[in-house]
Amino acid sequence: MSEAFDFIIVGAGSAGCVVADRLTASGRYRVLLLEAGGSDRSPFIQVPIGYGRTFFDPKINWMYDTEPSPELDGRQSYWPRGKVIGGSGSINAMVYVRGLPSDYDGWAADGADGWSFADVLPYFKKSERFEGGETPFHGVDGPMHVTDLTHRAHPLCQTFFAAAENLGFSRSADFNGAKPEGVGLYHINTDKGVRASTANAFLRPALSRANLELRTGAQVLNITLEAGRATGVTYRRGGVAQAATARAEVILCAGAVNTPHILQVSGIGDPVLLRHFNIPVAVESPHVGKNLQDHLAVSYFYRCNQPTLNDVLGPLSGKIKAGLQYLINRSGPLALSVNQAGGFVRSREGLSAPDLQLYFSPVSYSQTPLAKRELINPDPFSAFLLSFNACRPQSRGEIRLAGPDPLARPIILPNYLSHADDIADAQRGVALLRRLAATEPLAGVITEEIAPGAHLETLEELMQDFRARADTVYHPVGTARMGAKETGAVVDSSLRVFGLDGLRIIDASVFPRLTSGNTNAPVVMVAEKGVERVLADAQTS
Ligand SMILES: Cc1cc2nc3c(=O)[nH]c(=O)nc-3n(C[C@H](O)[C@H](O)[C@H](O)COP(=O)(O)OP(=O)(O)OC[C@H]3O[C@@H](n4cnc5c(N)ncnc54)[C@H](O)[C@@H]3O)c2cc1C
Repeated sequence: MSEAFDFIIVGAGSAGCVVADRLTASGRYRVLLLEAGGSDRSPFIQVPIGYGRTFFDPKINWMYDTEPSPELDGRQSYWPRGKVIGGSGSINAMVYVRGLPSDYDGWAADGADGWSFADVLPYFKKSERFEGGETPFHGVDGPMHVTDLTHRAHPLCQTFFAAAENLGFSRSADFNGAKPEGVGLYHINTDKGVRASTANAFLRPALSRANLELRTGAQVLNITLEAGRATGVTYRRGGVAQAATARAEVILCAGAVNTPHILQVSGIGDPVLLRHFNIPVAVESPHVGKNLQDHLAVSYFYRCNQPTLNDVLGPLSGKIKAGLQYLINRSGPLALSVNQAGGFVRSREGLSAPDLQLYFSPVSYSQTPLAKRELINPDPFSAFLLSFNACRPQSRGEIRLAGPDPLARPIILPNYLSHADDIADAQRGVALLRRLAATEPLAGVITEEIAPGAHLETLEELMQDFRARADTVYHPVGTARMGAKETGAVVDSSLRVFGLDGLRIIDASVFPRLTSGNTNAPVVMVAEKGVERVLADAQTS
């Protein structure tokens, strides 16, 4: 006998927590929220700077490794994904960036009807409680706090801004406002010095409702299908297989890696691939798992003659001082992300929008690769990092099941730099980082380029370094893309899976294209707008 609910949500991540809150608010629907991971109570999740520790914690992280990327010297990439309440939003760097308005106008032009910037702006505002006050671009009544770093960022950020301005780039007072282009400070998702994940902002208050049932440690195996309809799920909890039925809908919020995998092992996907593993084909949807996109970045590290966060976080005395500051009034470096400043800039004239995203972090981890940063153990000397990624890479990868076993890990093929445009963007990016570092007043504070190192001079050498060191910025999207069916989309503009009833996808998988910046805010927007469609459809059915 399987238990019956109105809705079953798979995954209590960035999107799933929003969906669970909004679906249960009226009290009309009984909702089951299944999450493979467990509690998010760890201080390494809740204290903003703790997230370095969660990168490699198998208790709260799926810890994926990709297949080797031929264009990155055959290297594999380590992909942390949150396996915990709050999902990747519980282990991310908290940068709150919506992307460029043209990203969403591009979605709409590609067939995602109703997802232009004008259409999605109200949903960004709906989720938001912006510290800077209400504006035409910002909301103040939503559950998710957005912190403005204007009076909190490290003073060295100003040196970066001045150098960028001397290179001809403008300032942006607000990447999420009227003018996202230029260099400026990032907003972050914290609330009074605590991570403002969607778990804290949306789910926690909703859990007091009797019509919401959260089950942790519950890994969904398959979607159960009957006569062209998703009727529920099977899941594994405490080593026991269980089943639940959804009277209205199953909603997949398992993220851009696991959502397509769940579809595939349930028989929804590329028929050739499914037949190869003797999986009965329930829905022929050849593009499930395809269209994978991600941001690829490289960091340049600079030793400098000014104090940086290394001097605060490095020595034991600094750690104690920062710890006390945090304990007494929830402020100081432990209350912030290390990503403080950056920008959206055009690498050349003639572009219609910025093509590179920049990061300036007043801290450095030159001894460890990007994916292995120990945030509370920076380099033992004054240093900072400059970094960039191309905003809208053209390379497309794929998530592919490894076999019929739902518990087997999916194969991740990122195909980084497989498109010539991405190589050209990388060339422009590395050249720009070098130009920034050579421009006053930044040049005046730099005493040494630690990496890649001054001995590398030509563009060819810098590209060799890029291929050897560039890595993910943890933004996979697009593996069950929304759009028109005839173009190979997996879901329609209301996020319903083509080919059967009762199944919706609301997470990063549905992005038609990667947005130009970080992906969490766009995922929250997708959840707000998607769940509104679910509720509207439930009322009319
Ligand atoms: C290390 C890191 C740093 C990042 N930094 C930033 C940043 O600073 N700013 C930003 O905007 N974005 C950042 N991101 C990206 C951002 O966090 C993600 O885009 C976003 O969280 C994705 O949301 P989602 O709901 O699609 O998936 P997730 O938040 O990953 O949620 C998926 C949930 O589903 C659960 N799940 C999966 N499979 C199953 C199953 N079979 N059964 C039950 N449950 C399942 C997972 O455990 C997880 O809880 C970062 C990501 C990482 C990993």
